[in-house]
Amino acid sequence: MLCQYETELTHMINDVKKFTKDGKVADYIPALATANQNTLAVAVFDGTDTCFSAGQSREKFTLQSISKVLTLALAIMDHGEEYVFSKVGMEPTGDPFNSIIKLESHAPSKPLNPMINAGALAVSHLIKGANSEEKIERLLHFIRMLSGNQTISYNLAVAKSEFETADLNRSLAYFMKQHGIIEGDIEVLLDFYTKQCAIETDCHDLARIGYVLANGGKSTLNNEEIVPMSVARIVKTFMVTCGMYNASGEFAMKVGIPAKSGVSGGIVGSVPNGMGIGIYGPALDDKGNSIAGMKLLEAMSSKYQLSIF
Ligand code: GLN
Repeated sequence: MLCQYETELTHMINDVKKFTKDGKVADYIPALATANQNTLAVAVFDGTDTCFSAGQSREKFTLQSISKVLTLALAIMDHGEEYVFSKVGMEPTGDPFNSIIKLESHAPSKPLNPMINAGALAVSHLIKGANSEEKIERLLHFIRMLSGNQTISYNLAVAKSEFETADLNRSLAYFMKQHGIIEGDIEVLLDFYTKQCAIETDCHDLARIGYVLANGGKSTLNNEEIVPMSVARIVKTFMVTCGMYNASGEFAMKVGIPAKSGVSGGIVGSVPNGMGIGIYGPALDDKGNSIAGMKLLEAMSSKYQLSIF
């Protein structure tokens, strides 16, 4: 198990930390712009304990796109696979995560996959709940079970900052409403979506979430099923094919770990047969992935042969 290599892992982190300088903190959501560019933190969970951590691994950050994996799981649990995939596709895309182009060029205006913003909005729309507050409470309950951390909540300031500036996401949602993919009040959907993206965790929480998915959806505490195994399999497949946006192909080749990133700089990784990885490094590359976080996963994967391929 990876955790016995504490000294090597610490060296790896020190080695890749320099890459934080080459990235840029996301600023299109104003509240994210204040993150510390130099941060690189990691936690590894082995099913029993966080067996390795480094950097500011207890610092909280928002999930952003990492939340898309969790809403997808919950939506499938709410409605079943068939219905969810009547609203969102299964194909990766070479376009950026917030692109609108395929919605128009691709009949019948169904978003390509649940990991791009259009697809995630279509999935968020499916989460059961009478209103946005009920939906977010259900999602929080689910994430608290996955992470074993009952204190997880969302950061209202970050949610508000995104809500006030989310015109691109609004346009994706209105476009899909016009084409019958989603219904109802788009502002209510945006309220839920921005709160979902603003859910805060630290690296330890992410590592535990990654572990549960790696463990076929079973709780780390009592082996109870939190996510049906078939649903865990589906979301991990999307992590492989679409998890790092339009860098997923290169990431699969160089790293080969089911993973999902967010523009806050978080990455969750699910290593089959027993390991969850949580990373936080807010300096991003031009595709919106944590630049040093990707380098760290690459180093870990090649040194310890973690690739699933
Ligand atoms: N909340 C962000 C957005 O919708 C999430 C995007 C991301 O992390 N790539 O733009």
